[in-house]
Amino acid sequence: MQGHMMFQPLLISSLIKHAERYHGDTAIISKNTDGTITKTDWTHISENSKRFANALSALGLKESDRVATIAWNNHRHLESWYAISGSGFVCHTINPRLFPEQLVFIINDAQDKVVLFDKTFLPLIKGVKSHTPHVEHFIYLGAYDQNVADAVPNVKFYDVLIAEQSSEFEWPSFDETTASSLCYTSGTTGNPKGALYSHRSTLLHTYAICLPDSLNLSAHDVMLPVVPMFHVNAWGTPYAAAMVGATLVLPGPGLDGASLVELIDEFKVTVALGVPTIWQGLLAAAKQSGSRLESMKRNVVGGSACPPAMMAAFKNSYQCETIHAWGMTETSPLGSANQLKAKHSLLSEDEKFKLRLSQGRPPFGVDLRITDQENGTHVLANDGHTSGNLQIRGHWIIDSYLGKSSSALTSDGWFDTGDIATLDEDGYLTLSDRSKDLIKSGGEWISSVELENIAMGHPDIAMAAVIAATHPKWDERPVVIAIKTPNSQITEQQLLDYYSDKVAKWQIPDKVVFVDAIPLTGTGKMLKRDLREQYGHVLLN
Ligand code: ADP
Repeated sequence: MQGHMMFQPLLISSLIKHAERYHGDTAIISKNTDGTITKTDWTHISENSKRFANALSALGLKESDRVATIAWNNHRHLESWYAISGSGFVCHTINPRLFPEQLVFIINDAQDKVVLFDKTFLPLIKGVKSHTPHVEHFIYLGAYDQNVADAVPNVKFYDVLIAEQSSEFEWPSFDETTASSLCYTSGTTGNPKGALYSHRSTLLHTYAICLPDSLNLSAHDVMLPVVPMFHVNAWGTPYAAAMVGATLVLPGPGLDGASLVELIDEFKVTVALGVPTIWQGLLAAAKQSGSRLESMKRNVVGGSACPPAMMAAFKNSYQCETIHAWGMTETSPLGSANQLKAKHSLLSEDEKFKLRLSQGRPPFGVDLRITDQENGTHVLANDGHTSGNLQIRGHWIIDSYLGKSSSALTSDGWFDTGDIATLDEDGYLTLSDRSKDLIKSGGEWISSVELENIAMGHPDIAMAAVIAATHPKWDERPVVIAIKTPNSQITEQQLLDYYSDKVAKWQIPDKVVFVDAIPLTGTGKMLKRDLREQYGHVLLN
């Protein structure tokens, strides 16, 4: 017997309908590519998204056609997202920091029909245009601009398109498993591969990230997604904000610490989200300007491990609670978030702090396990110290990559993340490394993340990456690549000595190389592959 309850497909259009109907006057703040600030609200975002949906339908697109965006976090980008997915097309967010060849590769792989772009990316569009034969329309996200018209023949202008259209649009209804958006892995792990999300997976993920034990989002919040909309859908925040009726502060291209401090203070941001390199900049800028970041109650750190020193700085200097979260492109992204349980209230502040450092536990809807490194399906104990391959399954986890007929899963239906981790009895996840970043010294594994966290805890170190360098006797040994803080005189020996009471003697790195800059991936993570190429041989002569 079936239940007698209504069935409504879980569609992204229902989010914007809800936001317009119940949170219409809630503010949306957008820093534009030209530096100006637009103050709008959910009513106007919704109306423009319907205007743009009319414009897209006038272009004659077919169901599930791909519409790409190469844009910062701003209001036009937000409107276009709802228009594209809401109409039944696939919103393909492109990371502009990829190399042009990779960009061409993914536009062609996705067979994008339309490409939307911000002014910043005009040179990029000029460069790739002749190599992307499937693209029928380029749309500039702004008002008419003669320079753009001259540079890209037949380009259309977003503001002109929506000005011609009505704000009446009936969002179509379709199967909730229809594809809604597409994001390519950022290529730290080889060739970019497409993760194709569905309306259903997106809606269920949105519910999960709002939960009190996840990011704890509500209509009281002013959210600043520093994480770009092209990085796993800004971790789902543009959908979550519509679901709960929060204000969004969209930071545009200004991701430097000083610009972020200004936005936080001016618009009273309560929760901000980003990768650790962003917070490094923010902390330095807040210190310099003397800002107390008064409104900011929490920040969400993910994408790379949150260094303990960073979490302590937010807590002690700014009374800001850091939520450490883990996920990946293939997992929509939320796989776990760190919130304590009732029983932890009895712990000392120190013990609580230690618990908060892990990547947290899975929300309802996903399940984690660790398995043997040799045999990917032999499940290991959740005892907090046995480490193995981290695997995940759930409602918003990939099952196969775009264009690949083979499954991306293990023989028993789990997705292997490529991360190495432990799980404790409560499901708290602690990542020790990515499998290929682990350092194998004389048959023993050393965690590069642990050594990086120690270096970054030194007051004279601004950033540090630890790589496996080839060693004639031990195969691999750890080498620290570090950036000093301004005016620091720290020496190699002083940094190596700093490790002596923190790790076993055989885990102390062999060498420190001080550099002025560490290359970052398109999503702001340290590009260890490049560092390994450059410094992987420093122990050989
Ligand atoms: P890519 O795999 O192309 O770098 P993703 O953004 O999907 O792109 O990266 C996912 C990976 O980032 C994870 O598999 C993990 O290695 C790392 N990661 C994400 N969050 C954390 C975290 N909180 N701590 C440590 N590593 C993390």
